[in-house]
Amino acid sequence: VINFYAGPAGLPLPALERAQQELLDFAGTGMSVMEVSHRSKEYDAVHEEALALTRELMGLPDNYKVLLLQGGAHLSFGMIPLNLLRGGRKADYIVTGNWAEKATKEAKLVAGDHVRVAASTKDEKFARLPKASELKIGEDSAFVHFTSNNTVEGTQWKEFPKTDKPYVCDMSSDIMWRPFDVSQFGLIYAGAQKNLGPSGVTLTIIREDFLEMCEASDLPSYLRYKLHAEKNSLYNTPPTFGIYILRNVLAYNKSIGGLKAIETANRKKGELLYGCIDRHAGFYKGFVTEKADRSLMNVDFFLPTPELDDTFVKEAKKAGMVGLKGYRDIGGIRVSTYNAVSVQDVETLVGFMDEFVRRNG
Ligand code: PLP
Repeated sequence: VINFYAGPAGLPLPALERAQQELLDFAGTGMSVMEVSHRSKEYDAVHEEALALTRELMGLPDNYKVLLLQGGAHLSFGMIPLNLLRGGRKADYIVTGNWAEKATKEAKLVAGDHVRVAASTKDEKFARLPKASELKIGEDSAFVHFTSNNTVEGTQWKEFPKTDKPYVCDMSSDIMWRPFDVSQFGLIYAGAQKNLGPSGVTLTIIREDFLEMCEASDLPSYLRYKLHAEKNSLYNTPPTFGIYILRNVLAYNKSIGGLKAIETANRKKGELLYGCIDRHAGFYKGFVTEKADRSLMNVDFFLPTPELDDTFVKEAKKAGMVGLKGYRDIGGIRVSTYNAVSVQDVETLVGFMDEFVRRNG
């Protein structure tokens, strides 16, 4: 089946086949990885490899710590202000979609008016990203929060917001889609369930000066970034099976040429899919209004009628392609083309789309 679900999403087949082979006998233990202690040397090797592969694939400098946490992006929405917006610190949040808005609301619950909105495109249904001239960022801002890819609306910051302030970023739906310079990022967080592995693991990357800003000894232990960093993400029982699959995915990503190779495939997939939408502009209508903002991870479009949207989804399913129904608030079609979706998968979809226009256009 070709999996275009928005998340949890498809994973590279070789990473799953490796898990299948090792399921009943992990590292010669005679047990599954989920049955061995998180303090065992066999699990520890997986844990260390997942951390090291993250560093290597993303080219992280030594002043960044990699944490493997739980609670998804949702827990991070709260942990970020709880740890960082202390002692009168303020931050600016760019509201570009459903998830960015949720992040902002959660932060305001914790830090009230110390959380400010730098810009919002809600009045335009989040169908574009704000321009540099629309961003209002305070001189006193400790960080600028943004969502690098808006999963619901299908916009993506291919060039990051123009500011000299550090970034805090929700990369849940496009982490590792390409190499990028991390040096302006104070903190990055991403639920694993789109580009990295199963839900239940939240990859978090934090710069040392941001770690130092976390004055959080009055918080419940699990909510303190500093504690997780000191304990190498083994303060409590980590999601061992999820981290094991993450390791398999990262090892596979390395074997195919790392993030550079992944970027090449992602750009090709975008050309194919947007090329098809633009070629049949009278039939397929993209949701995003600015071409430069179009996401290479989630592609939203409409057919001429909601009935045709439904027929499209049903016929695609019969042809072996699943997960194409649009998000409930937007409707239409959403194609999620995360890293595990191949160029060939997108070629198959585009062939189907061309043919669909011929029959229904
Ligand atoms: N942020 C983004 C960009 C997302 O795409 C999602 C999930 O779809 C979330 C946050 C919510 O993630 P979680 O369910 O892991 O908390």
